[in-house]
Parts: sequence; C-alpha cells; structure tokens
Amino acid sequence: MADVLAFGAHPDDLEIGCGGTLALLAQQGRSVVMVDFTRGELGTRGTVAERRAEAAAAAKVLGAAARLNLELPDGFLPFADPQSGHSARELAVTRVVDLIREQRPRLLLANFPRDAHPDHVIVGDVVKQARYLAGLRKFQPGRERHRPALLLHYFEHEQHPPTCVVDISAVIEQKLAAIRCHRSQLHDPTRAEPQTALSRPDFVERRAARDRFFGAQAGVDWAEPFFTDGPPKIADPMSLLP
Ligand SMILES: [Zn+2]
Repeated sequence: MADVLAFGAHPDDLEIGCGGTLALLAQQGRSVVMVDFTRGELGTRGTVAERRAEAAAAAKVLGAAARLNLELPDGFLPFADPQSGHSARELAVTRVVDLIREQRPRLLLANFPRDAHPDHVIVGDVVKQARYLAGLRKFQPGRERHRPALLLHYFEHEQHPPTCVVDISAVIEQKLAAIRCHRSQLHDPTRAEPQTALSRPDFVERRAARDRFFGAQAGVDWAEPFFTDGPPKIADPMSLLP
C-alpha cells in the first residue's frame, strides 16, 4: 500500500519533474512509490544497468519507499508489439490499473500529456485513463476497484501554465542531489558518448532555475509547478498567504 504513486516514462523523469515534491511527501511520512515505465534503453548515454543503479540511488535520496519498473519498451510506447498486436500503450493501461488497485494511493503523479517527448505524452495519458478505469468495477475484474482522489501532472521539456505550485524550499538540495545520481546522463568529460540536453555542464543549474522562477512567482524560494484537471480546492484561504 502506498500513499503516493508517481509515474515517469524514463528513469530520470520523476527527479527532474517533481523530485522536490516526492522528497517533501516522504519527509512528511507519506509512503511514496516511484514507477518508471521503461528502463531508458533508448537513451543516448548510459547502459540499462547503469541507469538501474542510478535510479535506485536517486530513490534513496528522495526517501521513496520503493521504485518499480514496468519494463515497457523505451521510445515504442505508441507502437504495436509484433507478437501480441497490442501496443505498449495498451499493455501499460492494464499494468497501471492493476498497480493502482494493488497500492491504493490517494495521490498520483505523472508526466504532463503535452510534451516534446512522445513517451511523456503517453505516460500522462495512460495514467489519466488508468486512474478512471481503476475505479470501474467491471473493468479488468480481479482486484477491488480504487480511484485515487487526485492526479498531478508535472512538466518536463515543455513548461505549460501550472494550476498550482508546491513549495519545495525545504528539500531543494535533496532534489538536486537526486538528479545528480543520474551520472551517466549528466556532464562528464571522461565519457565519450554523444552530448545531449542533459549532458550540458549547466543542466542541473537550468532545472534549478525553473524551480527558482516558480518559487519567485509564489513568494517562496523554490517551487515545482503542476497541472490538475479542475482547480485544486483550498480548505483555508489563509493558507494561500506567503
Ligand atoms: Zn523522459
């Protein structure tokens, strides 16, 4: 059982998009389970084994209770599997429905379904669909139905107007340390692999700059932006005071 299930397409999406919020939830005593859809085997840099070890180290830094991998094919989520005829996307919906019913979280996090990377788009869509379908008794019968109360989408390549931000000032160092666990993806002059946006020497600084920007918008030091369908409910308007 988990309080929070957080989904990402690749083994570094969660750290980059919402690592601060995950660290904060864990610090508050919530059980956070991180779930990667793929092993990131299509990544320009790093091997699957390296990326698995990096993801485990980052989960530890963030205080996650567990980190799972659905081992779906990286980069091919939209396409059909030649053997079953089902797309990886269809398989993903059934796997995520099952996981939601098994772990019974109240909060889900997932990529935003509009982004430059097609896998991010699909993970955002799949988790949104699965959240709904997991609440239907007659869909995929077996485990008891369960619909998490809230789905928060985080942003990655593309930044869209958020519907809320989370103050991560208390955990910004933990977030940046978790991103730095992904050493194979980041700047390293000793590695001969091709350069990517992540391997720029200033990548971590650039990601921090985004959180600094949204923090400044909200009157705090650092904040992560999120999108929810429908405005989030505020129990106490005074809680909006900076
Ligand atoms: Zn990704």
